[in-house]
Amino acid sequence: MTYPIVVYGHPVLRKVADDIDSDYPGLDQLIADLFETMYHSEGLGLAAPQIGKSIRIFVIDGKPAAEDEPALAEFKKAFINPHIIEKSGDLALMTEGCLSIPNLREEVNRESRIRITYYDENWKWHDEVYEGYSARIIQHEYDHLDGIMFTDKVSPLRKRLLKSKLTAISKGRFEAEYRTILPGQKIK
Ligand SMILES: [Zn+2]
Repeated sequence: MTYPIVVYGHPVLRKVADDIDSDYPGLDQLIADLFETMYHSEGLGLAAPQIGKSIRIFVIDGKPAAEDEPALAEFKKAFINPHIIEKSGDLALMTEGCLSIPNLREEVNRESRIRITYYDENWKWHDEVYEGYSARIIQHEYDHLDGIMFTDKVSPLRKRLLKSKLTAISKGRFEAEYRTILPGQKIK
């Protein structure tokens, strides 16, 4: 099933999400639903807080961006209890968007290399290094688990200019091809 996407301004997006246990009820279905919701809303990644669940899981499928970086065609993964243990490399500026902030795109600076530990959907533990575009997607999704939105990371000037746009979005003034939950609306 697909979930509605929680929109900017909802408190669940600002919480630090909790690690889960391997016997978390309905975990396989939840991961399948995260992928289905992500595909339905045409995102490259989706984090559990974006469907209203404050737990440390996100899914990524980089295929739609494979034109820009061919390696992304094969980059489809679920990250459970991920922890970025190192960020390094040059800062790179790139335009990002977010399903929780419909139709808004801004340039964000991020480190080009990360080391991350996580469990996959078979509860196998990984300790891996990612670079470039995949490192960027991971950092964006990972930030959701720490209550951080990509608009927090733009320059102070851009932040001031974005303020009214973000307020409008949080009040539902946007068009999206997927169902959403606005701040103040209950998560079912
Ligand atoms: Zn996002």
